[in-house]
This record gives sequence, C-alpha cells and structure tokens, in this order.
Amino acid sequence: MNYIVPEFEIVRNARRCISCGKCVEQCPYGVHSFDKDGKTVLADDSKCVACHRCVAVCPTHAIQIVKYEDAYKPHANWTPQVQKEILKQAETGGVLLSGMSNNKPYPIYWDKMLLNASQVTNPSIDPLREPMEIRTYLGRKPDKIEFDENGAMKTVMPPQIRLETPIMFSAMSFGSISFNAQKTLALAARELGTLFNTGEGGMHPGLKEFGDCAVVQVASGRFGVHKAYLDNSRFIEIKIGQGAKPGIGGHLPGEKVTVEVSNARMIPAGSDAISPAPHHDIYSIEDLRQLIWSLKEATEYQKPVAVKIAAVHNCAAIVSGVARAGADIIVMDGFRGGTGAAPTRIRDNVGIPIELALAAVDQRLRDESIRNSVSLVVSGSFRNSADIVKAIALGADAVYVATAPLIAMGCHMCQQCHTGKCSWGIATQRPELTERLNPEEMYPRVVNLISAWNHEMKEMLGGMGLNSIDSLRGNRLMLRGIGLTDKELEILGIAHAGE
Ligand code: SF4
Ligand code: SF4
Repeated sequence: MNYIVPEFEIVRNARRCISCGKCVEQCPYGVHSFDKDGKTVLADDSKCVACHRCVAVCPTHAIQIVKYEDAYKPHANWTPQVQKEILKQAETGGVLLSGMSNNKPYPIYWDKMLLNASQVTNPSIDPLREPMEIRTYLGRKPDKIEFDENGAMKTVMPPQIRLETPIMFSAMSFGSISFNAQKTLALAARELGTLFNTGEGGMHPGLKEFGDCAVVQVASGRFGVHKAYLDNSRFIEIKIGQGAKPGIGGHLPGEKVTVEVSNARMIPAGSDAISPAPHHDIYSIEDLRQLIWSLKEATEYQKPVAVKIAAVHNCAAIVSGVARAGADIIVMDGFRGGTGAAPTRIRDNVGIPIELALAAVDQRLRDESIRNSVSLVVSGSFRNSADIVKAIALGADAVYVATAPLIAMGCHMCQQCHTGKCSWGIATQRPELTERLNPEEMYPRVVNLISAWNHEMKEMLGGMGLNSIDSLRGNRLMLRGIGLTDKELEILGIAHAGE
C-alpha cells in the first residue's frame, strides 16, 4: 500500500490532446506514458514534481498541473506536510533531502523595509539624461592614500576587482549544475562585466577561456584545486559555509560524478564527492589566516582572497576575525540561500536571515574601524533589484545571485535538484537533459534580466537624489522599517516609517 498521496494532479484536456507523445518523451520523472494501445496518454500523478516541462512543451496546451486536493482533517500542528514527511521517513529510513532554498514562511525583511525618494529639495536625478554610476570595486581599501611631491599616488593599492554592476553570479559547481548552465552564466558574466563562480567543483576545461570573469572556489574537499586553477581567475573564494546548509559539508552522489565531472574535480568517476564539514586544516582563525596568505602567495599577491561564511548567530564576531585574518572580501550567505542538495531539516532550521546578519556585520566592522579593510558581498535569495538596493543601503558592497538567473534559464522551482533529473537541463548531468539548455541561446535572457535590474537600480538611485551606488553604500537613512519591532529596527539600524 502506498501511504503517500500525490502532491499534484495532471489534468489533461482530452479534446486538445493529439497524443503527440512530447510529454512522454520530455518528462524525466516518468509521469506520462502511453497506454497499451499506444494511442492514449496516461499520467501517474504520484511522480509529478510540478517542474512544468510538459506544460511548456505541449503543443496544444492540453496539460494543467493542479494541486492534488486531498482533504485532511485540519490540524495546526500536524499539517499534511508534516504527516507526509513522517511517512516518507517511515518508508525510507533516510534523511530528507531538498534542492533550492528554504521555503518556510520566515519573515522576509526586504519586504519590511521601504526606500526613500527625493521631493522638492535635493531633487531627484533622471538616469536617462544624467550619468549614473553603478560600477563597483571589490577588495581591501587602504586606510589612507598618500601622494608624492609631484602628485603621483605613493600608496600601493591592494588588488581590486572592477565590476560594471554590483551583481555577481554565486557559486554553483559543475556537478551540481550542468556544464551548459555554467557556461550560460560565464557568457552572461562576460557580457555584463561581472563574474560567475565555479563553486567547489573545479573548472571544466571548456570554461578555461572565461578565467577573466571567474571566481574560483577553494572548499573543504579541495576538488580541482591546483595552481593553474587559482591563476585562471579574478579572485579566489575560500568556502567555509553556505547559507542553505551551515555547519555541514556537501555530498554529490556518485551517479552525478560523470567522467567530465570527475576530471574537473580530480576524483574517480562514479565515486561520491563528499566535502567534509570543516576544512581539515582549519580549526582556528590562525589556520584560516594561513590558508588566506598561502593562496595570496601562490598567486603572487595579484588576486584578492575572499572567505565565504553562512549567516549564523554570531556572524558579526566571526566576520571581524576573518577580516583581521587578511581576507579582502567576505561573502555572507543567508538562510534563504539555494543549494543543489541539502538535508531539509538543516536547510529550513539553521542560520539567520541575511538582512539581519548584514546589518549586524556592517555595524560591527564600522565600530571596529575596519570596514574599509574588506568588501562585503551578500547572498541568499535576492528576488529583484529593490532587494539589492536595500542590501546596499544596509552596507553590502555587492551581491551574489543564483536562483534568479536559473529561473531566467527555465528553472520552475520544483526543488528536485538533488535528484539529478532536472527537466530543464540545469541541475543534471544526464546528456539527454543537459542538451535541452543551449548556452548561446540562453545567456541573452540572463543578460536581459541583470540589465533590467541595473536599469531599475539606477532609477531607484536617481529617485533618492543619488548619482552613484557608492553614495548609497551603508546609507541607512534611505531605509525605513514597516511593521517591525523595536529590536528588529535596532539590529537593522533603521528608523520606522513615519519617523
Ligand atoms: S504533449 Fe500535450 S498533446 Fe502531446 S501527448 Fe502530451 S498532453 Fe497530449
Ligand atoms: S534547477 Fe531544475 S531541478 Fe532544480 S528547482 Fe530548478 S527546475 Fe527544479
């Protein structure tokens, strides 16, 4: 007996269906099939994950996916979702796994902050008629700048990264996503003047030509890390933690470790790629310092070194230590950050919202007079340009986005990335699925998305009477809270609307 009822129901309009078989051929979850006579298409609702591939490919719009309405006796505590999860674990005895981000209804503070706009005095600026600067530089800034008697700068600047937008594409490894998905991001990054991030899986040889727009990661598994990999990048990112799964390592199942993935990661094909929870050579801030400076030494002090942590309870103190250890850029990933695979319980219950973490960290670094010694990059489910503008006003130098560009590529948020069956060719290594995503055709969509956001950011800046994103950084006067408690306002460092 199957104790688990389906989540979704396929409603097929018999008048419209022409039995072309496209849904049968395109669904990697095996939902659709022909009956014995080969004429009528049937559906196994229990397998549907609502990826919407069949809806998109059906030439006659014959398919609708609806929520499977099965009446449960109402219970505020033992909800249908809670019961389904218990049944699943009773059946499998395993840890529940999920892809993508935390989908619990925790507060989204971006939606509880409002931006300012100029009226009468300090007039607003029209970005269509006047220059508006969103170019962003990442890297340690000196305490002061000195000039010689001829006016030439004497201060030697630490390596800086120039971005044409404060938006970068965050770490998604080859393995967790397909080569075609990574290449789409690399092409878009190059066109936009920004960076993509290899994630912890090394660099596919097909992406070597994109070193000028690549961030390369050094994670606990050290997959694919060698001198040429470090050299072929704009900056290096040491990954300590990830917002979707703080405190635990990663696991790429052997079935996703194809020959290509194994070559990039420098591990045997078919073997599970397990990143340990800690780096086995880092047990203190001094150990981290040693790795930061080893990577700087290995790249002849030409590249900034970033450290990525998850937003957790005492992140302000952690970031202060990481800054003092020599990191040039600190990346902080909030608990709504996405992932290719994470234990559901960790994803949904560990970490804190990026909004609160960012405000606390920026304030701490200012209080300690070391804010200029690092750039702050934050991530964790930025949904639109307004979220990003608010993050910059709270103190971020730049942001990383991942889910939004994946949606631009076709992702329908079915949260099945961990199964390796992504029907849109993104979170999969199966050749018949990856070929559905053509990087050359897809990257203009990602460029469009970020260009639209750039334009919206300029409009918001202009509306505030600012003509550069630098004037907004950490400018919390431009934010007001709505419906927040005094404690939340205090942590965010903003006044309530009306004040
Ligand atoms: S893709 Fe549409 S028309 Fe073709 S078999 Fe499936 S439901 Fe019918
Ligand atoms: S990447 Fe693919 S598998 Fe993951 S949520 Fe998006 S559509 Fe689903």
